[in-house]
Amino acid sequence: MATTGRLVSRLAMVTGGGSGIGRAVCRRLASEGASVVVADVCEASANETLRSLPGDLRGQAHMAAAADVASKESVDNLLTSIQARYFQPPSVCVNAAGVTQDNFLLDMEDDDFDRVVRVNLKVGPPPDAVPSPASDSSSSSSSSSLQGSFLVIRAVARALVASGAPKGSIVTVGSIVGKVGNMGQVNYAASKAGVEGLTRTAAKELSRFGIRCNCVLPGFISTPMTDKVTEKVIGKMKSLIPLGRMGEATEVADVCAFLASDDARYVTGASLEVTGGLFMG
Ligand code: NAP
Repeated sequence: MATTGRLVSRLAMVTGGGSGIGRAVCRRLASEGASVVVADVCEASANETLRSLPGDLRGQAHMAAAADVASKESVDNLLTSIQARYFQPPSVCVNAAGVTQDNFLLDMEDDDFDRVVRVNLKVGPPPDAVPSPASDSSSSSSSSSLQGSFLVIRAVARALVASGAPKGSIVTVGSIVGKVGNMGQVNYAASKAGVEGLTRTAAKELSRFGIRCNCVLPGFISTPMTDKVTEKVIGKMKSLIPLGRMGEATEVADVCAFLASDDARYVTGASLEVTGGLFMG
């Protein structure tokens, strides 16, 4: 892992930092000298990541926090606790929290789909008023990535603008399936396509405040999220990937670190694919 010190004196917040890509991002940003706030809905996972981080180059401690990106109150509390501890908002934010709730289009219930899209567009009843979708613990969990991205981007941007910070970089982990679709992921693909539109719009609106907003679009990456995919599907996917293998979370983290850093100072509103060439062109 490169340790170029590109993020010395920067405060970074990573959602979904307790696992997979988010955990790798926390380690990468810390290795670049950032102070890292590891946020995850699971506090134990966030603390596990925290314990694995190298010390930051200013000697300022990292922190872990329980935060549900699908809850406005939780996101606001997270920003408040960060500002109370560091006396500044995070100037780097990576949104890696996300989940899947797969089903084929023909079997997808309205509520399963609406849960993802409704919360971002803010139409229809609040999530609590919506009946739970049929549960299948082997393949489903709540789909909150779209709303989470909106709430986190807005909260971080508001805090940065209010503080007068000269620059910020917000990176959101989308997915290549938001561009190309994927069998059994009609809701997830729609949410990830939405995340790209959200990010591009945020990039346009926030550029005058020195805040850059970009997406990273992973392809098929080895993490707990893909652990549940069957060997048969993994074999089929690998055969479609020009580089011939699944990606590593660290390879996504490297791109996030680039976008977070001043090396990407002229990059905003972009979506960078980290797919090994899967679905290119
Ligand atoms: P992962 O290992 O499951 O990590 C996701 C993390 O987000 C978990 O720690 C999860 O906690 C946390 N999380 C879930 N809901 C949350 C919430 N409401 N608030 C805060 N944290 C929450 O998955 P991953 O593969 O690293 O995925 C990271 C991101 O990359 C996701 O946005 C995913 O959609 C995207 N992505 C992944 C792939 C891939 O192939 N792995 C491909 C394209 C895009 P729990 O485990 O406790 O739920």
